[in-house]
Amino acid sequence: MYDLIIKNGKIIDGTGSPYYRADIAVKDGKIAEIGKNLGEARETINATGLTVTPGFIDSHSHADSALLSHPELIEKVEQGITTSIAGQCGSSAAPTSDVTAGEFLESLRDQSFGANTVLLIGHGTLRRLAVGVENRAPAASEMQQMKELLRDGLEHGAAGLSFGLYYAPGCYAETAELIELAKVVAEYHGIIAAHIRNESNFLIQAVQEFITVVRETGVRGVLSHHKASAKENWGKVCHTLRMIDEANESGLEVYCDVYPYCASNTSLSATLIPTAYRAQDDDGIVAMLSDKTMRQTIYRETCAIRGDDLSHIMISSCSALPHLQGKRISEIAEAEGKSHYDTAFDIICDSHVSCDVCTFSMCEEDVETVLAYPRAMICTDSGVARHLTSYHPRLRGTFPRVLGRYVRERGVTSLPEMIRKMTSMPAAVYGLTSKGLLAVGFDADICIFDADTIIDHAEYGDCTRRAEGLNYVLVGGQVVAENAVYTGARPGRMLLK
Ligand SMILES: [Zn+2]
Repeated sequence: MYDLIIKNGKIIDGTGSPYYRADIAVKDGKIAEIGKNLGEARETINATGLTVTPGFIDSHSHADSALLSHPELIEKVEQGITTSIAGQCGSSAAPTSDVTAGEFLESLRDQSFGANTVLLIGHGTLRRLAVGVENRAPAASEMQQMKELLRDGLEHGAAGLSFGLYYAPGCYAETAELIELAKVVAEYHGIIAAHIRNESNFLIQAVQEFITVVRETGVRGVLSHHKASAKENWGKVCHTLRMIDEANESGLEVYCDVYPYCASNTSLSATLIPTAYRAQDDDGIVAMLSDKTMRQTIYRETCAIRGDDLSHIMISSCSALPHLQGKRISEIAEAEGKSHYDTAFDIICDSHVSCDVCTFSMCEEDVETVLAYPRAMICTDSGVARHLTSYHPRLRGTFPRVLGRYVRERGVTSLPEMIRKMTSMPAAVYGLTSKGLLAVGFDADICIFDADTIIDHAEYGDCTRRAEGLNYVLVGGQVVAENAVYTGARPGRMLLK
């Protein structure tokens, strides 16, 4: 007798092939049989009129920081994510000064979660431990220390290394440092992912640098949350996607991921303070912005690039100043009778450098171009359990939004092709050999949804709204979400390579 049979669904198996109708039998967490008249099961899900796909894989997530405090991973499972690739943008929950990455991963080995998680080791995290937040090259001994910390993580099951070359201290690394560390990853047949150095005026150079690291090491690479920021750069993604194609045609393996929104989300300080001034702790940043001359210097440099108008920046989450959440810098400036920059700099100081913003800097056409690109995977670029009503809506809306808005309404690509980009493609890229396909022997990570109605409802200013049209999400054959409401089940695991 089977544990579960999903009856009469339209099966989109994750390969990119069109749907077919069949039943799926699950036993011991695996897909046991696919066909008709499969016999008896303890439970049945009637999927008549619904689409059945592999569970979605969030190619770029920050869930690692909350794995211990919020193991339910509610914001993942309630949008259909059954596995997420965490430790991104150069920042991972381990190693820390107290615990090695190996110890961290070992401690999670027997823990259970709402969904599965893969961990990358953050280069910024390594550099912070070995070098501090200093704008300089590492000494030979510090380079050695970074390599050992990385090796320890890879030995214990981390899938690779992530770079955050826009953030301090990752931004202080030269290309040679990236190559040296990526060579360690290559020894373990791991992957590198990068929030590249620049996503606006120097986007093309930044993509080139990443492809150089891939070329020099032979390691597989993913360009994170690919985009072109600021109006003068819109359209450049056509060029960068061609660069990715050419890299692959020359024998390299380069991919990208993307989230389906025109606004990014990061800290206000990283948004407005040039990297040269970020080589210090939060107290240092507050002191610097409190100094009239320094504030003026930073204003002049940033304004030369961004201009005087910050009305495209919205406070997304700021626990110290919650009344500002959901407001644009321009609104706050007008109410307070200050300039946009003084308003923003004062918020950085008053929140003690703990304020995130949504920046509306991308165009819809570029977002659609990248979403449709065959080597682009889908990602939330979000953590979990933010305890915030106000955050970027990608926290909860990403996957239903891609299927509803971009596949059904806008037709950027076919449903089977988009499902492939959400399932078998990231499974192959990240080496998840038992995931990403509806096929016998594969893990029973499964989504069941209504392709005619699935849609996101999370908004800027209210990211708590759940998706609609997502009937069931299963991890290892257990239902973790029903009608986008978490069930309390924790069949997910830390996936160790
Ligand atoms: Zn990033």
